[in-house]
Amino acid sequence: MNVIKNNTAELQKMDRAHFMHPSTNMRQHADGETPNRIINGGKGIYIHDTEGKETLDAFAGLYCVNVGYGRTEIADAIYAQAKELAYYHTYVGHGNEPIIRLSERIVKSAPEGMQRVYYGMSGSDANETNIKLIWYYNNILGRPEKKKIISRWRGYHGSGIMTGSLTGLATFHNAFDLPRAPILHTTCPHFYWNAEAGETEEQFAKRCADDLEKMILREGPETIAAFIGEPVMGTGGIITPPKGYWEAIQAVLNKYDVLLVADEVVTAFGRTGSYFGSQHYGIKPDLITIAKGVTSGYLPLSGVIVGERVWKVLEQGSDKMGPLGHGWTYSAHPVCAAAANANLDIVDGEDLTGNSAKTGGYFQNLLRETFADHPLVGEARGVGLMAALEFVADKDKKERFDPNLKVGAKVSAACLERGMIARAMPHGDILGFAPALCITTAEIDKVVDIAKQAVDAVTDELA
Ligand code: PLP
Repeated sequence: MNVIKNNTAELQKMDRAHFMHPSTNMRQHADGETPNRIINGGKGIYIHDTEGKETLDAFAGLYCVNVGYGRTEIADAIYAQAKELAYYHTYVGHGNEPIIRLSERIVKSAPEGMQRVYYGMSGSDANETNIKLIWYYNNILGRPEKKKIISRWRGYHGSGIMTGSLTGLATFHNAFDLPRAPILHTTCPHFYWNAEAGETEEQFAKRCADDLEKMILREGPETIAAFIGEPVMGTGGIITPPKGYWEAIQAVLNKYDVLLVADEVVTAFGRTGSYFGSQHYGIKPDLITIAKGVTSGYLPLSGVIVGERVWKVLEQGSDKMGPLGHGWTYSAHPVCAAAANANLDIVDGEDLTGNSAKTGGYFQNLLRETFADHPLVGEARGVGLMAALEFVADKDKKERFDPNLKVGAKVSAACLERGMIARAMPHGDILGFAPALCITTAEIDKVVDIAKQAVDAVTDELA
């Protein structure tokens, strides 16, 4: 470890020469124009790097390290399982104890009617599985034309060909020839920007549902297979649904026999203050996507929780279709499952969902109070331990900044200068927060205090 710690410059050089990073300007990185930070440890809500700098991570990695960094219980479980059985596939009926126990645990804690879990390694591959299962389901039912999937502008569902298409953010489409058919995008339910003057939240929610219905009718209900949505939009800007939204959307989906996929990659396992975001918002999904918080990122694991309506058809259709022609080598990996069980022991044992509700409530109030009258902040929003500040050029007229000013990125950089990571979300001038679910109120005070200093500093800079 010391050898690595003492060789930051050498590692940075090797990194710039050989390592291709996600979401990074490749030319600037290769030429050394952008920072290259090498992370080598973490404890609680803090990470540290090879230069000895400690930073408060108010985004829990990529909203995944829900139990915090440095939990040796999970490391021990990984070690024990790797010694016992590091790998065996789960094709043709093979199982392993940790995945079987995990599956029972997930199904029992999930919203009513969930039946089985199919595993992958990332949120993206889990959503690919969702699309394939939905198509398979309609093929079994003899409805080959019912294949279109509706997602929402600013939804985030992954970076694959189909999941990148589901994602409703231009950054993930441009230059990749996405979105691909048969994916459609409907209205983003962001009350702050998209509601019309005088519209109530309920009226706006109804209009979103009407837009969805119009799209279904325009395309033909016999062609629409499913709707996918995050209970609370994450990467699109941490956008909570307007009042009555999910009720209105579900009424439309039920009317036209359209399946509902709740993408809970961010919201499952406590983030909203309920165990699942679906439970928080009264969503009754047919399929649920999970990843991130199932292992707190200690190892990669994702899953699709399959509900009764879909499961019954898949099960009964097997005789017609034969074995499921969909599998990943690392599906249901025993070591990842051991990490998940140890992680969920912490989530449950320390009641981190309860903490998310309680400390999250404190966070939401403090954020709103602190920034209510701030000229740069148009909206402070969120639920549980996910929140955002939206920056505007003119609060009264609700005017956005010129995107070239990169105000969100500037505030994020000002936070980092003050020792805290808060994420500049990819669309708009938005600063996102999603700290570990073990965060304390004292730590929340620090998060909001640093955020305030950073927002004030950027306000001065822009003046
Ligand atoms: N779905 C949601 C809601 C997400 O937030 C993400 C990632 O942030 C994904 C899917 C994709 O997950 P992954 O990056 O593990 O492929």
